[in-house]
Amino acid sequence: RASVKKITTGSQALDGLLGGGIETRTMTELFGEFGSGKTQICHQVSVNVQLPPEKGGLSGKALYIDTEGTFRTERIKAMASALGLEPKDVLQNIMSIRAINTDHQIAIVEELQDIIAKDNTIKLVVVDSITSHFRAEYSGRENLAVRQQKLNRHLHQLVRLAEIYDLAVIVTNQVMARPDMFYGDPTVAVGGHTLYHVPGIRVQIKKSRGNRRIARMVDAPHLPEGEVVFSITNTGIRD
Ligand code: ADP
Ligand code: MG
Repeated sequence: RASVKKITTGSQALDGLLGGGIETRTMTELFGEFGSGKTQICHQVSVNVQLPPEKGGLSGKALYIDTEGTFRTERIKAMASALGLEPKDVLQNIMSIRAINTDHQIAIVEELQDIIAKDNTIKLVVVDSITSHFRAEYSGRENLAVRQQKLNRHLHQLVRLAEIYDLAVIVTNQVMARPDMFYGDPTVAVGGHTLYHVPGIRVQIKKSRGNRRIARMVDAPHLPEGEVVFSITNTGIRD
């Protein structure tokens, strides 16, 4: 694990929980309710990956697969400015792709292999969110098995990209306030545990008071379990 690199989240507390930051060669799943801050973290890490290593980045570019239409160039620019970076340059180093359905989302990831093979400066791939299209298109218990099979294959492809190209993968997964309503749905985190079995790190994000958020490490193979508090501010993710 010596060659694993880390990208800062902007919060020392959250970095600490993650063992130094978002890791390369690993898929990190952020799961939590609507508004918990998953998309904000994805935006921040897409900016921070561009920082030089001494500032917590990898001097790299980001690929952002947006399935919910929540990617915001204005937010990226604000986060870049706050770090003293040129907003236009930072935006140019984030390739955002809107995925319109599961087949499109899967096809994009299949094509990434070629894009990344040609451009070794890509150090982060975001899929925000990994589950929304799958849930919408394969609703109902009778479709669960085929959905799980497709989703698992898709997730394993992402894990492989991370491992082969030494890059970080972040996926988000929105879970409901009342997971008991979705009993039997393996993509819904019940009691904080996502029930599909793909290697990686899982972090639950929970709302706290005001702009405060709680991050909780779940089932990490090499990191201690624990909880930390961070904030979502005008300038981005902070302590
Ligand atoms: P999720 O993706 O988990 O549904 P988001 O990442 O979209 O949630 O987080 C939304 C929250 O982030 C908002 O409710 C707000 O609290 C915070 N937020 C978004 N933009 C800003 C901003 N410019 N300044 C401060 N907080 C913000
Ligand atoms: Mg979101």
